[in-house]
Amino acid sequence: MRFLAQIADKIRKRAATRGFSCDCCGAELFDYPQNRLCNQCRETLTICDREKSCPKCGRATIAQGVCLSCKRALPKFDKGFSPFVYVGETAALVNRIKNGNRRLAYFFGEKMADIFMETNARFLKNDVGRVEANEKNAPEGGTGALLLILPVPAHATKVRERGYNQAADLAEIVCERLQRFGFEAEYDPDVLQKRKETKMQKHLGVANRAENVSGAYYVHKRAACRGKTIVLVDDIMTTGATGSEIAERLLGAGAKEVILLVAAALPEQK
Ligand SMILES: [Zn+2]
Ligand SMILES: [Zn+2]
Repeated sequence: MRFLAQIADKIRKRAATRGFSCDCCGAELFDYPQNRLCNQCRETLTICDREKSCPKCGRATIAQGVCLSCKRALPKFDKGFSPFVYVGETAALVNRIKNGNRRLAYFFGEKMADIFMETNARFLKNDVGRVEANEKNAPEGGTGALLLILPVPAHATKVRERGYNQAADLAEIVCERLQRFGFEAEYDPDVLQKRKETKMQKHLGVANRAENVSGAYYVHKRAACRGKTIVLVDDIMTTGATGSEIAERLLGAGAKEVILLVAAALPEQK
């Protein structure tokens, strides 16, 4: 069964890099795969303006400066990035990744990688193919990749039901793109695990969200985190409580810093 699943995965990946139609509506495209979505679909998306986003969590803000959510409870991750705002059509599209349209993960994953690369060029390999920072900060005796790309894990039951974890799809695409552009990155879906089933964050009040995720995640491969800059990948950021909870675990396991990278983040709420 595992073997068949691997073949199915290969076919899915190959199909995603070919074809001449919009990954969202199926309209014919003449510039695929440069553009995975048609103009009409792209125009419905709300791009997160970095000039007007929270310098801590990366969500779109009403005014300049740190958002209300971060002021209320400063997230434990070092910084958050998100190419899109989780509103309207954008939210509907992002939700489709977990509701069966795995192909859409390519569009969003690539945009996530792009925003990361634009803002984190310090992780780019230099001319001799080495990241200098890596040599200084590498764990003793370690020569592993500088960036560790981890998906927010889903509970095993959920993955069985759905057949996949959308955050893992996104993380894998992010990592591939970072590597292609000369970043020293490694993807590992097994470092983090989810211990308990949590309620959907969006159905809970702000106060209950941190409690809902508390203790839900644990670091299964602690040694892998030591000295690393970790890019934690998820589809959506609402309060940031999940990212904050996991970042705390990762930093506790010896990670150097944790960057949260999501497809879309809820904008600052008044
Ligand atoms: Zn379209
Ligand atoms: Zn914020």
